[in-house]
Amino acid sequence: MRQSQLVTKTRKDVSQQEHSINAQLLERAGYIAKLMAGVFSYLPLGYRVLAKIENIVRCSMDELGAQEILMPSLQPKEPWVITGRWDEVDVMYKLKAGDRDLCLGPTHEEVVTPLIAPYITSYKDLPRAVYQIQTKFRNEARPKSGLLRGREFRMKDLYSFHANEEDLNTYYDTVKDMYIRIFERCGLGDITYFTYAAGGTFSKYSHEFQTIAPDGEDTIFVCSPCRVAINHEIIEELSACPECGSKELTQQKSIEVGNIFKLMYKFSKAFNLTYRDSKDAEQNIPMGCYGLGTTRLMGAIVEALHDEHGIMWPASVAPYDIHLLSFFRSPDMQQKAHELYLDIQKKGYEVLYDDREVRTGQKFADADLSGIPIRIVISVKTVELSNVECTLLSSP
Ligand code: ATP
Ligand code: MG
Repeated sequence: MRQSQLVTKTRKDVSQQEHSINAQLLERAGYIAKLMAGVFSYLPLGYRVLAKIENIVRCSMDELGAQEILMPSLQPKEPWVITGRWDEVDVMYKLKAGDRDLCLGPTHEEVVTPLIAPYITSYKDLPRAVYQIQTKFRNEARPKSGLLRGREFRMKDLYSFHANEEDLNTYYDTVKDMYIRIFERCGLGDITYFTYAAGGTFSKYSHEFQTIAPDGEDTIFVCSPCRVAINHEIIEELSACPECGSKELTQQKSIEVGNIFKLMYKFSKAFNLTYRDSKDAEQNIPMGCYGLGTTRLMGAIVEALHDEHGIMWPASVAPYDIHLLSFFRSPDMQQKAHELYLDIQKKGYEVLYDDREVRTGQKFADADLSGIPIRIVISVKTVELSNVECTLLSSP
């Protein structure tokens, strides 16, 4: 991509109401733009980052054998009345169309359970798992953390259906391991912890994945040797590491990037989802659900990986592999730079080519802000040295 043709530019005039580091850096670099509180557009560079994150998540779900679907955002009231959650979910956007009550989906248990029910009748139909990567709506109070807490945001949600609890437990552990891989693949492996959290109505604990960041909303207590943490909300109940019993835990600020639950029978019972076992007896179906906020993850990466000059993308999610900065003025040298740009692409790299005629300092400052991990600089000076200058800005 030639940067002179990009629809966005870096900006200095971003909204002062957005104090969060992720919104500030992403808006200034032209990755996202705020429409209103908690609602953002993804611009070309930002949409590439989001697509890379979602692709890592998608490939990981496919590796688990889960099948991708897409459910509607616009939902009727009735299934929410069946589960008793119409009046319970306080962040739900409710709307009226004529005399019909509708909502914009804050989550999808009420859709996925009756959706899958007709296809599961016998023990031969189990286990099954479906997932989607989709836009969710939640009327969050005072969203001021940029992508970390949106009113419209993207989430991957996976739902699993099992013949018995033992099978659910095994699958749950497999998903947990895959989540650890996903955060590693997104460059947050070292600072993301499997965290014991409150279980809600369904089970004793749920589990979160929490990324350490100084401005995170959550507080966790980390057991470094075991690489697990306890959410502060259950630290009274669970005051030692569940793996090794140690009480030497370190308090940290963090961002919840994923949350996995055993739903057990709550939704399958509500929607009469049962199956016939090998002796033709009717059995209940325990379920699991596994959420991961893809837009929040993008914000969390920026919160965790930046310096005073700008973002520092891990190579796996950077909008381009290489940022090529050309400082040539004469047409024949500019032609050479263009050939180099084409050459690097032919080698299979994605290149953002800064061919703009702007001040040297501005070019470097913009590149620092954008945070593309490999930078190649070509100028009269590098030509005199018959070389190019290549800087690796973060580990690949
Ligand atoms: P939180 O505790 O942060 O309010 P939650 O526990 O309600 O989130 P879940 O319903 O478990 O979240 O959603 C799964 C994942 O979706 C979360 O782990 C998070 O990554 C993401 N997520 C939830 N709410 C938001 C939001 N308002 N904006 C962006 N991402 C979100
Ligand atoms: Mg949560």
